[in-house]
This record gives sequence, structure tokens and C-alpha cells, in this order.
Amino acid sequence: MQLSPQLAKRFESLENRYPVKRSALIPMLIYAQDEYGYVSDDMVDEIARRLGLNNVQVEETLAYYSMLRRKPMGKHHVQVCTNVACMLRGGYDILERAKRRLEIGHKETTKDGVFSLEEVECIGACTGAPAMQVNYDYYEDLTPYKFDRILEDLDAGRKSPPVPVITGALHPRHPLETPLISKRWGIPNSRSIDVYLQHDGYKALEKALKQMTPETIIDEVKKSSLRGRGGAGFPTGMKWSFVPKDSPKPKYVICNADESEPGTCKDRPLLEMDPHQLIEGMIIAGRAIGSHRGFIYIRGEYRYVLDIVDAAIAEAYARGYLGKNILGSGFDYDLLIHTGAGAYECGEESALMESLEGKRGYPRIKPPFPAVVGLYGCPTIINNVETLSSVPHIILEGGESYANRGTPKNGGTRMVCVSGHVNKPGIYEVPLGFNMKRFIEEVAGGIPGGRKLKAVIPGGSSCPLLKPEEIDIPMDYDSVAKAGSMLGSGGMVVVDDSTCMVDLARRIMHFYAHESCGWCIPCREGTTWLRKMLERFHAGDGRPEDIDMVGELARNMLGKTFCPLGDAAAMPTISIITKWRHEFEEHLNGRCAYKQAESLAGAR
Ligand code: SF4
Repeated sequence: MQLSPQLAKRFESLENRYPVKRSALIPMLIYAQDEYGYVSDDMVDEIARRLGLNNVQVEETLAYYSMLRRKPMGKHHVQVCTNVACMLRGGYDILERAKRRLEIGHKETTKDGVFSLEEVECIGACTGAPAMQVNYDYYEDLTPYKFDRILEDLDAGRKSPPVPVITGALHPRHPLETPLISKRWGIPNSRSIDVYLQHDGYKALEKALKQMTPETIIDEVKKSSLRGRGGAGFPTGMKWSFVPKDSPKPKYVICNADESEPGTCKDRPLLEMDPHQLIEGMIIAGRAIGSHRGFIYIRGEYRYVLDIVDAAIAEAYARGYLGKNILGSGFDYDLLIHTGAGAYECGEESALMESLEGKRGYPRIKPPFPAVVGLYGCPTIINNVETLSSVPHIILEGGESYANRGTPKNGGTRMVCVSGHVNKPGIYEVPLGFNMKRFIEEVAGGIPGGRKLKAVIPGGSSCPLLKPEEIDIPMDYDSVAKAGSMLGSGGMVVVDDSTCMVDLARRIMHFYAHESCGWCIPCREGTTWLRKMLERFHAGDGRPEDIDMVGELARNMLGKTFCPLGDAAAMPTISIITKWRHEFEEHLNGRCAYKQAESLAGAR
């Protein structure tokens, strides 16, 4: 197959980039699709030949990822998010407007091939909801009027400017915030290495390389009480200490930048406004565990962010912070950026490694855990963007000082992205342990329009929901768990009293049913049945016995699935059907008192 010189060059560089060639598969498919609009049979042949795979291996990976396509879409592919944060702020209105204006439905293309439309899951723009992407460009804070103007511009061959930086990140700092890892946000050109160096950049790396040993680095991280910010909250220093020192195999550090939990969009600004902070954290992590190679796995939707981080990596190489003999210390470290292609499941660490190896994102059996048998069968640590971005601060100020910013066993600060029904949706940094009620009322500006608070999703849509009387608690891992929920990924969604909880439960379950990888039966069948039952309720066709059956089905999934996605689907459902049971009973008479959003079935 004849490739353009640009694509041929890209393919050649990808083929030689990874320890195992197949790892180049997903990036090659994505870049091929970017150029041709889809992945053709000829392209499958070409990529298989280059990577020494057979066509079935390429096809099986291709079919798994939602961003990869086997047929062309429109020149402008309009992807409207209707997941919880967007749903609460008019996402379905935007979708309806798109359907009427383009006269096409979900996954259809206009006759002239100019536009195609897709209703998509969370695109990581929750604080700018309702939001959409056109190809890779983000448009946020949409209204039907604004949507029309964007499409008119595209139709006329112009391009409305997409958002340059995620909406909600660059607000004036609230006096109650304590910016640490977000302290450089808002400084002009904060992503450049020069600005980073002017603001303490790479000083922690120098200290870690010249004054510390791998053991003292891990000790400092242990002292800091830093817990994984991706959702599980596992102590970071302990995770690092599990990597066997005497393993003869290479060791890897992976940054999980596959931020996909609905309601969560704080890694995106950390990457786009301060990529060197993450790079520095990764090199220090490498030094701590004896790794000489790291990977940043970034979700496919964040393409412009990928380009920013890639440029920052090039700067770090050029200035001697990456590569051989860093700062004359004798320590070598290489860093690669890798793109996903649309699969929530790849946020699970073992599924992410499978994906990085060029395969479907199916989770692996544990044990063995990644610290012992990870990427390519080698010892690997996987940490989230926020976790690794905190590391330079721990090294510079000391673990104890960092720990004292939070509460016991919950050290440091936390990025909270708050969306939904608040006056000031945004991304804020507060100490761990900050009071949740105060955060919503004071930092996020309270509930708009004189409405009352009805529910809070504290940390992404997989968390059990809290009622207003349950939120006067410190926002740390242990206190939120004691209240019956989770701090999760920091993606808080606030729900006011105009919201139909049956509809909210339906929308949440729709997401998990869509994202279930289908590997194990309780999750594959459970999420599908729950989705159908909740849709039936919302359409007014629920049966009295279904109320208990929804709860029972969800409870039967808990702890019985292969990876945490089954629990993630069950937990919010159980909390909603338990705490707002009366709303399900009201729907039995065929009426919804709220009419907040149209049913998904009706919207399609
Ligand atoms: Fe796949 Fe769901 Fe089973 Fe996880 S729990 S392995 S996502 S089917």
C-alpha cells in the first residue's frame, strides 16, 4: 500500500519505538484513521505486515476500541456527550439539536459526507458541560445557539475556535484553595520548560539523583501518605516498594492518563498546563524502582494534550532531563507517550498494560500483581497523572511536610473537579480532609437558581451517591468511605432537586453496560439487564417487582466480577434505589415528576 510520506515516517518511527513491536498497533491504527478517515482492509494488511502480525490479530484489536472505525464517517465527526455531567446541564438538548439540524441519527452521516453524528460517553470535559468534540477539537459550555454557530462555521469552511484550555481550570483562585500541583496554572506558557525551570522545575529531580538513594526516595513517598489519585487510593510508596529489587528484567513506570471516569477531568489540565511536572515525577519514580523506561498512556480523545506532552518530552530530552546520564548522575531514563483509542476498561491497570501491548483491553488475573509481573511480563508500577505530579513536591518539601497538608493517612492536596448543578463548576485544589459541604457551598458557589441539593456523586460515577444530610464530612479516603461512598477519582457531580433519580440511574447504567468488556458473565449480563430494567422504569413501563429485582441484581454483582467495573456499575445503582426508592415507585404509574431528560431510547 502506498502511504503518504508523513504517515510512512510515522509508521517507521512507531515500529522501532517499543520493546515489543505489537505495542505500536493502536497508535498506527489511530494515525492511519486520522489520515484516511477509517481503517481500510488494505491498511489492515499493511499494518499487519509491518508488525509481523496476522490480519486476525489486527482485526481483533481494532474491533475492541470505540474510536477505531472500519467505515468512513463525515469530514466533521460531531460527538455529543450525554453522560451524567453533560446530561445535567443540557447534553440531551444539544444532541436533539444536532439530530434536527443535520437530519441524521446516532452514528449516521449526512448524504454529502460533510457531517456525521455520534452520541458519546464522557469525553473528560465535565466542568465545561455540556460539551462535544468535532474530530479532536473540544467545544464546551454549549447552548443550542452556540452549537448552531459552530456547525455553520464548519459548513462554511471556517472553524470556530475550540477551547484552548479545559473550561473550569483557569478560574480566579478561591481563597480556600491551596494550590500545589496546580500552582503554575495560569502562568503564561506554563507548559514550556523555561517557565517550569523558573518555578522550581526539575529541582526535585536533581535532589533525587544527587542526594538520595532509591530507598530514601521510597521512604519519603511513604512518609508523605500519598495515596493513588486514580480511584483506589492505594498508598503509593508501598506500591513502589513491592517492585523486586533483584529482578534481572527491565522495570517500567506507566502513567495512567486514561482519565475516563464520568465526572473526572482534572488530569487533562495537569497534562496540558504542567506536563514537565508529570515528566519529573515519572523520572523520580523510575529512579526509585530502578526503571529506565516509562510510558504515558493517554486517552485517545485527548489528542491535543498528547501533542503538548510529546513536545514537553522533546524539550526534556533536549535539555538533558531525559536520556542518558541525566544531570551527570549516571542515571538513564527514556519516556514514551502512547495513545489509547476509546475504552473505559483500559483505566484498569492490567487492562491498560494489555492495551499498551497492542491487544484488547481485557484485565488480567491477579495475582501476580503488576509490581512483579506487569508490562511485557516485567515488574511495573502504574500510577495516575495526579499521583505522579505530586512526587516532585514530596521530594522537594519532604514527605512529612506534604503529609501535614492533609489528614492522617491521607497526605497532601487533592484536585477536585466539580460539575453538575453548581454555580462555579471547575477544577480546584484543596487539602485532603476539606469539608465536602463547605466545598460545594463556598468553593463551588452552591446550587444555582434557588434550587436545593438532592445528591452528590463524590468521586466519579462509580461511587455510591450521598444525600445532603450525609455530606458534612471531611473529603479524605477514610471519611468518605465511612459515610458509605468513595473519594474515587476526584470527579464530583452535584445534583439538584429538579433531577429524576430514575433517569440518573438509567444514564449511569447505560455507561457501564456500554463499557463492559464482556469478559465475565456477572458484569456482561448484569449491566445489560440493569440497563434494560432502568430504561423500562424511566419509560413508565416498570413492574412493582422490578424495584427489588434491580437492587438484588446489583447486589449479586458486587465482588463477583473479574475486575472492579462490575462493582462500579452496581454501587451507584444500589445507593440510588435504596435512598430514592419512592421515585421508582412513583414511576410505576407511568409518570415522571421531573422530566429532566429524555429517555435514551427516545433520544436516539
Ligand atoms: Fe470485563 Fe466487566 Fe468482567 Fe471487568 S467486570 S472483566 S469489564 S466483563
